[in-house]
Amino acid sequence: MKMNLSLAAALCSVAMPALADEINIYSHRQPELIQPLVDAFTAETGIDVNVAFVDKGMAERLVAEGDRSPADLVLTVDIARLTQVVDAGVTQAVSSDVIAANVPATLRDPEGQWFGLTTRARIVYASKERVAEGEVTTYEDLVDPKWKGRICTRSGTNDYNVALIAAVIAHHGEAEAKTWLEGLKANLARKPSGGDRDQVKAIAAGECDIAIGNTYYIGQMMADPEQRPDAEAVRIVFPVFEGDGSHVNISGMAMTKAAPNRDNALKFMEWLSQDEAQKIYAETNNEYPVKPGVARSDLVASWGEFTQDSLPLTDIAKLRPAALKLAEEVNFDS
Ligand code: FE
Repeated sequence: MKMNLSLAAALCSVAMPALADEINIYSHRQPELIQPLVDAFTAETGIDVNVAFVDKGMAERLVAEGDRSPADLVLTVDIARLTQVVDAGVTQAVSSDVIAANVPATLRDPEGQWFGLTTRARIVYASKERVAEGEVTTYEDLVDPKWKGRICTRSGTNDYNVALIAAVIAHHGEAEAKTWLEGLKANLARKPSGGDRDQVKAIAAGECDIAIGNTYYIGQMMADPEQRPDAEAVRIVFPVFEGDGSHVNISGMAMTKAAPNRDNALKFMEWLSQDEAQKIYAETNNEYPVKPGVARSDLVASWGEFTQDSLPLTDIAKLRPAALKLAEEVNFDS
């Protein structure tokens, strides 16, 4: 709809006071994960938060909307999707002492283009019946021939696995990472398929003994009476990279370049990095708060302590293309 400019200005001057107290979010995350946060923030500040669920094509949509985009903030998961939005040139740098104090440096962009809000570890699901405690302790262990025909995982070109392969490259270099990936492939019980939950089901069904997956899926399955028995068949094991920690990825946020409500958007970003929001956000999806010292949910705490890998996520983001190439080179999925 086109409108004469002076009329638009007149309407704006009438409507602006109301508009000034809102923010608009494009969220790649399920609406039910965001709602509890939005409600708490609005109750506390009086700022309305409108959430549009954007399942696919977030970067494309923001590019197409350009300066006229109503979006102030993007919420998404995985460093891959965050960097996609940043690389599309539709975000702006945010500098905030509050966020810098709350979010560890390895979990945010040094330029302030994106910030982690929660972490999830990519770990091993192990059959309680067929895998003894301590039998698998490192990612490097996964290529041991003793696992031949016993490992399940989703596609090697899936974002979560690409990030893990990128971490292997960061730790061991490309040549060794290739050998690792070939070794992992040689140990697979079946062709990579499905999502992380399907690997848990496969362990429960006896198709494989260990699988690679994200922590929170176990929480989701435990909450679903139909899937709970499968989740109960596995134990969460936090493998580490030799001499370092467990691979983590993030859910995160970025401010859009257009951000019509910049000040309120910054308030929301800072609020999300603080204790109360960190606790709600992490708990809703069984993830880990990024802010040190914030309590985990009982279920997440029951999985035990682990050491996060020390690699900055920016390194993993940079190595993603090389990781994807490796997965294709070794024909991981065939
Ligand atoms: Fe997921």
